[in-house]
Amino acid sequence: MSHPECMYCTDDGRLDKLMIEIGPLSVSTLYLFKEQTYRGRVLVALNTHEREMFHLSDEVRNQLMNDVARAARAVDKAFKPGKINYGAYGDTMPHVHFHIVPKYEGGEQWGTTFVMNPAQVYLSDEEYAEVIAQIKAALE
Ligand SMILES: [Zn+2]
Repeated sequence: MSHPECMYCTDDGRLDKLMIEIGPLSVSTLYLFKEQTYRGRVLVALNTHEREMFHLSDEVRNQLMNDVARAARAVDKAFKPGKINYGAYGDTMPHVHFHIVPKYEGGEQWGTTFVMNPAQVYLSDEEYAEVIAQIKAALE
């Protein structure tokens, strides 16, 4: 089944404006979120189009949660945030995905929920490559 409305299922450039693919996990794909107010922010998107977590089999859901934990562990190891937020909303793009958002003590929204897209911190291509390299090196 194709989902032309979904940016995770359609290669039409929408996703590329927001994220850079880091690589595959077990049942999902890891992306760097281009907006880097929260240094090291990434996103894990399921490889199949599913609207809700409870639509997944136990096996796939467990693998997905392992992927999310693995990605968060890598972000934690690479950037040493004080806390990581996990955001799974899907209001505008109903395809199961998790925002993994590192928070830093004294930094933006420390102690409260992250802003979905602050639209204030973008990096150079070299800086993106460096952040991605740090995350890849920390992925276990
Ligand atoms: Zn989709």
